[in-house]
Amino acid sequence: MSTEYHLPHNYTTARPEQLPAFPKALGVSDHWTPSAITLAAGKKPGTLTLTSAPPYDSSQHQSFGIGVGTFQFDMATRTSKGWGGGMVRYLQSGRPCVWKPEEPKEGSFHLALEISAEDAAAVRASEREHIEDFQLAWDRSFGLVSGLLPTCSADSTQGAIKALVTRLIAMEAAYVIPADPDEPGNWGPHILKVYKALCAHSYKRDDKGHHSPIRYEFTVHEKTITLRFAFGPRHPSTEFVIPGEISPVFTAASHEEYVQAKQAAASRPPAAADARLDVGTVVVWSDAARDGRLFEDYPLGLSIAEQTIHAVPDPDPDSQRWVVDMPAINGRLHFEEGTVVAVNDTHTWVRIDFRDHEDDGSFTWATPKVAQLGLPDGHGYVCLRHHLLKPKT
Ligand SMILES: [Zn+2]
Repeated sequence: MSTEYHLPHNYTTARPEQLPAFPKALGVSDHWTPSAITLAAGKKPGTLTLTSAPPYDSSQHQSFGIGVGTFQFDMATRTSKGWGGGMVRYLQSGRPCVWKPEEPKEGSFHLALEISAEDAAAVRASEREHIEDFQLAWDRSFGLVSGLLPTCSADSTQGAIKALVTRLIAMEAAYVIPADPDEPGNWGPHILKVYKALCAHSYKRDDKGHHSPIRYEFTVHEKTITLRFAFGPRHPSTEFVIPGEISPVFTAASHEEYVQAKQAAASRPPAAADARLDVGTVVVWSDAARDGRLFEDYPLGLSIAEQTIHAVPDPDPDSQRWVVDMPAINGRLHFEEGTVVAVNDTHTWVRIDFRDHEDDGSFTWATPKVAQLGLPDGHGYVCLRHHLLKPKT
């Protein structure tokens, strides 16, 4: 497992029109994902190999950021009632705002953002943090398993898998073990899922405001206000990419316990039937969900994957429209309801209407974020662990 970063950072300097969220976001980075990860028996009996297709290459992460220049982007008006237009966001940000020479009392102004070489470098450093996060996500998923395989050789494929499970449990890394590890084909898809979930942790930097300016400076000259941003300190990837926030699907204390539980399960109904979660069941939060506690409280609360609303019931966030929106999911399953559309060994897919209907036929969306998804008929899908749900009575 590599812990040193010599990342090729494929970084492109962009103009504002190439940055959809400008000036709110001055850069954007997307993680690259292999199409498949596969654990298979090696050429030598009793060995395992882990491969990705096509081979993972961190230089393929897309990363853009603003370049040096002065960019006019909006208007703002000051009247006796206060500011309107593009200034409002900054003045309401709660961050220090400095006026030079002084704040105008009235008038209409063009807004321009000035990016110095130093600022452009700060944006680039922020985007590189996302790339380093994606590398750490890879190291803590694929890299972790791949690095252990040479030490897991045994008499047979099953013996090697048992050794791998035992090593991972000893390292407190059960999050990377699939629910049924004795089937080699279960490993790759689970490792890929863990990698994507860890990559998603990177956006906590943006949600928590670590990639937002810490101070604004406004210079007034005739009918133009020039904005300058001051950027905050850097934060290491280990502050954000946290495997402990991934809910393990393998919960046995040892490989032996897993084998025993598997044998016992064969003689009793599956957990979903115990909880009476069948397709068509109308459900709400169970007591275990505790009104969908925030992921900071994880492992008691919801994982990032469980805070994701999909446009269709499909676990692959790359192939479909999706958004992470905890408040919307929490509000619906606390005050409204959902309907079970699919059940597997560990998780339940729930269809939820994210609209509030008025008597006159109009509706409003649960949150602005879910409104952006443009859900057909207002229905979105969430994949939750069984114990978070109970039938609505
Ligand atoms: Zn960011």
